[in-house]
Amino acid sequence: MKIDQFPRDVKAYLVPSPQGNMVYRCLACGKEIGIDTLLYTCPDCGSVLLLYDKNFKRVKQFGGQMWRKVLDYRRMLNHQALKGIFRYYEFIAPVIPLADIIYLGEGHTPLVEANNSLKEMVGLDFYFKNEGLNPSGSFKDRGMACALSYINYFAKKEGIENLLAICASTGDTSASAALYGSYLKKFLISAVLLPHGKVTPQQLSQPLGSGAKVLEIPGVFDDCMKVVENLADNYQVALLNSKNSWRILGQETFSFEVAQDFEYEVRDKVIVLPIGNAGNITAVMSGFLKFYDAGIIDELPKIVGVQSEHADPVYRYYLEEDETRRLFSPVTVRQSVAQAAMIGNPVSMPRVIEIVREYNGVAGERRVFVVQVSEQEIMDAMIIANRNGNIACTQGGESLAGLQKAIKQGHVGKGEVGVVDSTAHVLKFTDFQQMYFEDKFTPEFNVKPKPELRNAPVMVKPKTLKKFPGQGKGLHGEEMTEFIRETTAEIARLLGLKRK
Ligand SMILES: *Cc1c(COP(=O)(O)O)cnc(C)c1O
Ligand SMILES: [Zn+2]
Repeated sequence: MKIDQFPRDVKAYLVPSPQGNMVYRCLACGKEIGIDTLLYTCPDCGSVLLLYDKNFKRVKQFGGQMWRKVLDYRRMLNHQALKGIFRYYEFIAPVIPLADIIYLGEGHTPLVEANNSLKEMVGLDFYFKNEGLNPSGSFKDRGMACALSYINYFAKKEGIENLLAICASTGDTSASAALYGSYLKKFLISAVLLPHGKVTPQQLSQPLGSGAKVLEIPGVFDDCMKVVENLADNYQVALLNSKNSWRILGQETFSFEVAQDFEYEVRDKVIVLPIGNAGNITAVMSGFLKFYDAGIIDELPKIVGVQSEHADPVYRYYLEEDETRRLFSPVTVRQSVAQAAMIGNPVSMPRVIEIVREYNGVAGERRVFVVQVSEQEIMDAMIIANRNGNIACTQGGESLAGLQKAIKQGHVGKGEVGVVDSTAHVLKFTDFQQMYFEDKFTPEFNVKPKPELRNAPVMVKPKTLKKFPGQGKGLHGEEMTEFIRETTAEIARLLGLKRK
């Protein structure tokens, strides 16, 4: 819709301008630092940072009702910069001029209602939010769109001509960083560090395809992370890991979309998502808190974080009921099909601890839960989800298994509605699917395929035939007729078809 066709009272607010006053704030010591340097940890105490808008008061003063109206009308607006995550401009990074925003099609992923068989299986109404439909096939694009938009603005402002952007990754961060980096190739060079053999072939092909420098390191993600941090501490690079707080802001839009898609009614909703480095659960909670603070939603939804038995440091931390006695200790991860979340020492743990406390505090009751699932439960859930019209990755399976676990443990019950985050596209994780179908999991995974969930192609090659079409030489005449007849008959037999 053209701008002059919008109602009078919203017109002036549809296309925003930079009015924020953003600062980095250290979660440990409270230090505030301006955003005119690229910063990842507190220069005083080394802890992780989050970004705050010191001008957020103006957002609050606008009022929830008016915001709902403006955001809903923005859906109809054709403005390139505001088509993706920046529909929520005022809530993420209202310091970036619209002209510097990068939009590659991220965000506004579909909220797909589970079909009746899935609902029956789970015993609850629920939806999948299919984050695999982002441009690089995972939710990481939300954060990257924000971080790279800021870098784009920053580099122009500072006249930076050659910037190296780097990240460590369990696969999807590098795919996303390389994609967005390639769009800015004029001044940006992308390098990604991957744990050798610990990302899927598809995830490895993504940064290669985007033209990034791909560096493989022996070990697991936690090892790569240490190297990348050392690089960022000692060399001039832009770090694109989730220590980069601009990414957290972009990922908050998941929550804004969920709120908007449910007409801002989220009291009965339960958001279920996998936890790896814990950046995403941080962002999701932070997003809902912002909308609550601005009066856009009037209650907070429940949050269920899910971890595999093979990488469960956050789950272990919250096992201790007494908050004063909780102690975080990293775990050594074991092989997991939820490979993108196979992290033993989550970078965002301090953020999670802080925000979970705030979230429960604001809600006035416990609203955040962490559950643990087995590798078997993850694989079964992923395959069942996809046999019912979804495109869930292994982490999406983890979310679904987590919803079931949360119901079993009484954290979630009747009348609530699940929103299951399928964080990436199944096509990135078909190797695990194949291992399931072929019963080829190595013992450390501890996954036994259920016969009814296995699948394999069937070769149709009737014994009655002597000749088959070969490469470069087709059949002709009677031979072709016979081939078609016999093959058709065999297929009809296999599928139990009745004659017309
Ligand atoms: C990164 C990732 C996760 C984990 O998210 P964190 O922010 O690291 O907790 C889960 N699923 C997929 C597909 C991912 O790429
Ligand atoms: Zn500090």
